[in-house]
Amino acid sequence: MELENIVANTVYLKAREGGPDNSKGRSKKWRKLLAFPHISVVIGMAETLSAVSYDYIVDQQPIGQKLFRLFCVKHKKEYYHYNEFLDDIDAYELEVEDARAESAHNIVQKFLTRPAASDSGVDTCEEHPPESDKFIDVLSEDTISNVVKNIDSGSRDLFLKCTTEVKTYLSDEPFKEFRESMYFDRYLQWKYLERQTVTYKTFRMYRVLGKGGFGEVCACQTRATGKMYACKKLEKKRVKKRKGESMVLSEKLILQKINSRFVVNLAYAFETKDALCLVLTIMTGGDLKFHIYNMGGEPGFSEARSKFYAAEVLLGLDHLHSNGIVYRDCKPENILLDENGHVRISDLGLALEIPDGEVVRGRVGTVGYMAPEIIDNEKYTFSPDYFSLGCLIYEMIEGRAPFRARKEKVKREEVDRRVKEMDEPYSKKFSDEAQSVCRGLLKKKFSTVKGVNLDSKDDTFYNRFNTGAVSIPWQEEMLETKVFEDLNVFGPDDSLPPDLDI
Ligand code: ADP
Ligand code: MG
Ligand code: MG
Repeated sequence: MELENIVANTVYLKAREGGPDNSKGRSKKWRKLLAFPHISVVIGMAETLSAVSYDYIVDQQPIGQKLFRLFCVKHKKEYYHYNEFLDDIDAYELEVEDARAESAHNIVQKFLTRPAASDSGVDTCEEHPPESDKFIDVLSEDTISNVVKNIDSGSRDLFLKCTTEVKTYLSDEPFKEFRESMYFDRYLQWKYLERQTVTYKTFRMYRVLGKGGFGEVCACQTRATGKMYACKKLEKKRVKKRKGESMVLSEKLILQKINSRFVVNLAYAFETKDALCLVLTIMTGGDLKFHIYNMGGEPGFSEARSKFYAAEVLLGLDHLHSNGIVYRDCKPENILLDENGHVRISDLGLALEIPDGEVVRGRVGTVGYMAPEIIDNEKYTFSPDYFSLGCLIYEMIEGRAPFRARKEKVKREEVDRRVKEMDEPYSKKFSDEAQSVCRGLLKKKFSTVKGVNLDSKDDTFYNRFNTGAVSIPWQEEMLETKVFEDLNVFGPDDSLPPDLDI
């Protein structure tokens, strides 16, 4: 048994390194697995796409964006600088506040400064603006002068109107031309590949990473690209016995909707004879519970480290909330680390989508992390996640959960009582700021708004689950693993102009 584990681990580590002979983990038959269908096969596909618009294809789909840019570079060069402008604005928005003013000046200089009017007389030939001229000529005067007026404000939204106006322009004529070009046919070819049926044969399976309520979670790798994922298996019989269908489907539908660097993403959902499988971002660094308690020494983290995790979890929660989803299971066990030390929220089995303007009720969560309004079965929207985040931050700093010591033998009712009535104690480990954050999040009152057989009937549910590749993660996989570059050639002398990085 021990030896078996060592072997399984070695094989898994080898796979992570990219497998034998520079194959990058790709199967020998990878080109066959990703062979473009003939154009005639995909030509009718455009009607079956949920949206053929700039907003969806270029703004949201990674391969769509890549192809639109290729179209601009190779076909309509005069459109290219609009993309550069949008990229520079993205970079501006990611700058720390102090660095934004300088970056804003550079952008204005490069894109928003009208080329000097030529002073040529009537009889000399008209001078053309220099090739390097990148003036964005589709913006209103107002928009430009507003940017110039607020250039030193450091506001993240400084270029918001510019972005909207440029995108409005690109979605019109340029997008129409793209739509009629061969780059759009190629988009359909990629889309066809994305929609290929996914089965257990799509992946190689490796060692177990963890155990869940309905089955194991294993490391896996797609044969076509070599990308590693985690495969969460939900055994059909266990799901049925525990009437977990709606929970499992809700987890899948919510994961599919979400695409955040701070939430484990769903790349594929498929079924085998015995199991439903969720293929997720692989997180190889263990969970926060392990790191708080099992790394030797005093439990808990420094404040700086706690702050870093808290910030990433908050960004994850924020993303869920802005998509109308309450997580309801924030606790150290469910926050997973990747190999670079970043964290993501995982296990969305208890998450719930709240329709706009509505409130929900429901006593779910983990004892000791559940907010008072949940314990009291009151109506709520997103507030329970802030209470649980408070518990998490407290636990990271103190090395102990606020309402229940680790392995403490205590009844659920007693923990619930503490959550509702006890003021959590603060030791010297908390700075004033940390204490104030925790006290704020852990306020008792938020403004809350008041022997199994499978048969054919189960198939409707499986069919809703078994939808294969999820668009954005699949396209990211193609780009990240360089499969896109290798396959996306248009002809024998297909090359990009030098120094264009799209
Ligand atoms: P359940 O909903 O049944 O509790 P989880 O989603 O929590 O299942 O997964 C069970 C365990 O599998 C986790 O505690 C963790 O150890 C491991 N695990 C889950 N998702 C991943 C992932 N994306 N990467 C690595 N390990 C994971
Ligand atoms: Mg879990
Ligand atoms: Mg779960």
